[in-house]
Amino acid sequence: GVSSHPVSDLLFKNTSPNVVYTDDEIRSRYTYRTTSVTKQPNGQYQVTPKAQLYDFKVGRKVPKVGMMLVGWGGNNGTTVTAGIMANRRNMTWETRGGPRAANYYGSVVMGSTMKLGTDPETNKDVNIPLNQVLPIVHPNDLVVGGWDISGMNMADAMDRAAVLEPTLKAQLKKEMSYMVPLPSIYYPDFIAANQEDRADNVLEGSKACMAHVDKIRDDIKGFKAKNGLDKVIVQWTANTERYADLVEGVNDTADNLLKAIEAGHEEVSPSTVFAVACILEQVPFINGSPQNTFVPGAVELAERHGAFIGGDDFKSGQTKMKSALVDFMINAGIKLTSIASYNHLGNNDGKNLNSHRQFRSKEISKSNVVDDMVEANHVLYPDQGEKPDHCVVIKYMPAVGDNKRALDEYYAEIFMGGHQTISLFNVCEDSLLASPLIIDLVLIAELMTRVEWRSCAEDGAAATEYKGFHSVLSILSYMLKAPLTPPGTPVVNALAKQRAALTNIFRAFVGLEPESDMSLEHKLF
Ligand code: NAD
Repeated sequence: GVSSHPVSDLLFKNTSPNVVYTDDEIRSRYTYRTTSVTKQPNGQYQVTPKAQLYDFKVGRKVPKVGMMLVGWGGNNGTTVTAGIMANRRNMTWETRGGPRAANYYGSVVMGSTMKLGTDPETNKDVNIPLNQVLPIVHPNDLVVGGWDISGMNMADAMDRAAVLEPTLKAQLKKEMSYMVPLPSIYYPDFIAANQEDRADNVLEGSKACMAHVDKIRDDIKGFKAKNGLDKVIVQWTANTERYADLVEGVNDTADNLLKAIEAGHEEVSPSTVFAVACILEQVPFINGSPQNTFVPGAVELAERHGAFIGGDDFKSGQTKMKSALVDFMINAGIKLTSIASYNHLGNNDGKNLNSHRQFRSKEISKSNVVDDMVEANHVLYPDQGEKPDHCVVIKYMPAVGDNKRALDEYYAEIFMGGHQTISLFNVCEDSLLASPLIIDLVLIAELMTRVEWRSCAEDGAAATEYKGFHSVLSILSYMLKAPLTPPGTPVVNALAKQRAALTNIFRAFVGLEPESDMSLEHKLF
């Protein structure tokens, strides 16, 4: 399944001696520049520029990858599966607005570009697709499978989701009818009681146990073998669970968590059992829902096994707007004082969130998304802990189906006691926004499994052995509402910063400086 291309096939080649291309790898030697700041007793900051030399290696051989979704038969699961199949077969379909063709709009990897540099002849920027910066799996080549507590085949489940046009569904129906989710683990206490009637495809046992961990591991192995895959990435796009209580001796350490699973402790959620199975199987696991799947013991287990994890909660609609808009306002020096966010939606996610404990997970996930931007501006928010009022409401309104309404009012103080009020009405076709994020998360997580780094001394001598990035893949933050970061490291929610981190890290792997947008070449002559 592994494929690589000759270097001459790459869209660009860096001529720097710091970049070496081999058949198997792109190697770059990269100077990471930062600024260290210490506060002096007199209140003055002393700043010291720092430079750290790193070597990066990225595997050029693009593997054959499987994407296994937990909650495969849901709105996101069926939509992303259908979308990939339609793209793979280059489908077009009729709608009342005319013909439509499959695309990957909304995927940052597939649909966006990055400035490579400037053409000296024309003085113009040269932009390339993000997926051409590094060897990245094409989503058309993903083999999709997964689990669901509902045993409905994927064609019927796609109908149940009521997301895609009938003319498209008709073309996919046959192939999707052969796809049936694997039975999953169902602990009724974790999701809303109103989900019970769809739980007809469940493994025996309603509490965590090692048999469940082993079964999930076997499922992954089986899927890999059956489809001749090099790698599998697992993603939770199943119902939002309630938070698991953090209990000392239960989920606080890796060993305690494993013991708690063995003992069938009731505070271990299905999503955590999936995470543990994937970690033990060395398969990246990404959590697309807001619950606290990654209890401290799960994070420690991932670190111990050098397995990748990422989360939490897809950032698709309202929060994506928020993390762009608030970034803009606060960085413009406008003092945002309140955000009132109201949603209503009518899909099964909304039905599940109608239940208080599950809503609470979403509320937590949606609430902290501006904190980093506020904390960074002590000119507007001089008092410790001062922040804008922020309220999030979610209501279940079946009639609007998957077309979630997000209404937000941003209220801000401007010059000389004035106010700016921004009122937003955002109709988010939820699963069509989330599906490309599911793809991006898989493509980038897979890429990160092919990256290794080592640090070097100033004279260039290697100072450490090559190893992978930290287990917690915070590089995925752009796609996630409540980004999980390595313990003790800051969370970045600001959308522009998240994207810059992603593209600049990609650039480092191919020996390019971060994009500063200074454009001095257009200003100094
Ligand atoms: P959905 O309810 O349509 O799908 C969830 C699926 O998970 C269902 O088919 C259900 O049967 C299944 N399921 C529940 N528990 C399971 C378990 N233990 N194992 C296997 N399957 C299980 O919801 P959706 O609209 O596809 O959204 C999925 C998740 O993604 C939700 O938690 C939602 O909050 C989250 N999310 C969605 C978006 C978005 O759609 N824009 C954004 C952020 C987060």
